[in-house]
Amino acid sequence: MPRYAIYPGSFDPLTNGHVAIIQRGLKLFDRLIVAVANNPQKTPLFSVDERKQLVDEAFGHDPRIEIDSFDALLTDYARKRGVSTILRGLRAVSDFDYEFQIANMNLQLMPEIETVFVMTGEDYFFVSARLVREVATFGGDVSSLVPKNVEEALKKKLRRS
Ligand code: ADP
Repeated sequence: MPRYAIYPGSFDPLTNGHVAIIQRGLKLFDRLIVAVANNPQKTPLFSVDERKQLVDEAFGHDPRIEIDSFDALLTDYARKRGVSTILRGLRAVSDFDYEFQIANMNLQLMPEIETVFVMTGEDYFFVSARLVREVATFGGDVSSLVPKNVEEALKKKLRRS
């Protein structure tokens, strides 16, 4: 039986921090479902389809990575997919409090769920999609923070808006 985990997030857009988590996740699991959150309360820079495509391109359509989206509770999505392991990344200490709350809330909602945390390397400890969006919006160089295809997509998107 292949071991599956769901890696949920906004991925708006995919950063090298996310890439490192996916690479580490693939050492622990046979397959990863990268689940792009479609949150109607947020106005993203990239649409769900664009975000999914950027992940798929960045990993060269790796068959071990399935890219999906969800717009319900993560636990409902996990049940629907029949997967009870969630992969999350940890950055600085500031992530811990939030991640701890979510992991415990998910446990209340679905007792069989397990959340596995992995850390990024120190190079990407400070990288967040929000920071990338802010820097790129003001014309800053994000080439060391995101995969090449994301850098190009950011340029195209921001030139248009
Ligand atoms: P962001 O906070 O960058 O918008 P997401 O909401 O898409 O990212 O987060 C998805 C998951 O990836 C979360 O568990 C988050 O902590 C993790 N993550 C994002 N960036 C990094 C990073 N640079 N290092 C480690 N984990 C990260």
